[in-house]
Amino acid sequence: MPPCYLDHNATTPLRPESAEAVSHALKQWGNPSSVHSHGRAARRIVEDARRQVAGLAAADTATVVFTSGGTEANNLALRGCGRTRILVSAVEHPSVLEAAEKIETIPVDADGVVDLDALQGMLRDGEGAVVSIMLANNETGVIQPVTRAAAIAHEAGALFHCDAVQGAGKLPLDFGALGVDMLTLSAHKIGGSKGAGALIVADHVQLASIIRGGGQERGRRSGTENVSGIAGFGAAAEQAAAEVSSAGNLSALRDMLEERVLADISGARIVAGKADRLPNTSCIALPGISAETQVMALDLAGFAVSAGSACSSGKVKPSHVLAAMGHDNDIAACAIRISLGHGNSEADTEGFIAAYRDFATRAGVTAA
Ligand code: PLP
Repeated sequence: MPPCYLDHNATTPLRPESAEAVSHALKQWGNPSSVHSHGRAARRIVEDARRQVAGLAAADTATVVFTSGGTEANNLALRGCGRTRILVSAVEHPSVLEAAEKIETIPVDADGVVDLDALQGMLRDGEGAVVSIMLANNETGVIQPVTRAAAIAHEAGALFHCDAVQGAGKLPLDFGALGVDMLTLSAHKIGGSKGAGALIVADHVQLASIIRGGGQERGRRSGTENVSGIAGFGAAAEQAAAEVSSAGNLSALRDMLEERVLADISGARIVAGKADRLPNTSCIALPGISAETQVMALDLAGFAVSAGSACSSGKVKPSHVLAAMGHDNDIAACAIRISLGHGNSEADTEGFIAAYRDFATRAGVTAA
């Protein structure tokens, strides 16, 4: 039996529409900057995708800057916006937390929600600052009060950036209604291929390119565009926008899974279970049993989940997100993330619960 994939926050299966768009674009091998017909065909693909990606966030087409992914878009936002103070929530993705040498972190509460009073205090003089708060967290799924945070930032004269990589496709997105100045998206989290992303930038932001060269993307991101990746991103964005209303249905599966885990496994805890969360994400801690051990055992049992955030080195460290929420290593090093997607069914979650229960019993955790 193929392994059951429950790790959609790490990456998503390629959508067939996206695969088709990638394959078509690979045959249009012109350089989109060339003026002849080969170039114009490639340019058309890029501009069609720009319209599709803008549509996912209800933004103007011209505000979309294509990048190599979410990581580059976050770096471009924070390093390219020309502000000297960078304030980010303590639970951001490393591509935000480590985007510059000097970053000030805004604390979060026990549910992982950013402390807006602390933000206000830190922004007493907000001129020259940029604030970055994610739409939803990749490890816990906790949704942040982005609109209110953006209003606080603007009142103090700061710019506001939002990493919406995990929210896209799972929550309705409206760039204008969110009230942000910059917004990050990544193709491979919504059924596109890896290596394509975008920063949506409001007209009033004077964005300087952090990659210099040929001046592509209207001078905001140099480098010949990844035409096929961008084409797949566009197709995925269009599909994700059409399906976003059904993404909420995943919460019924997720809630059932959590209820059963709590009922069947003593000591298991749902991290931020009471907070406003993405419908697909569950972060479960089994105190005393390392996340790495849990992930490996579940993999052997045929279930692909991850340990908090997927670490590129393959080594699992205690989660900085859970630590920022005040959890000690008993929780922060012992939590796994289950993230569901459209392909998952009740049979998948039932199978997962049975495998997790077996593992817990073998590991000496008594049944609840
Ligand atoms: N931001 C968040 C919240 C993420 O979860 C990720 C990827 O895991 C990224 C940014 C980075 O995106 P990419 O993989 O496209 O560089």
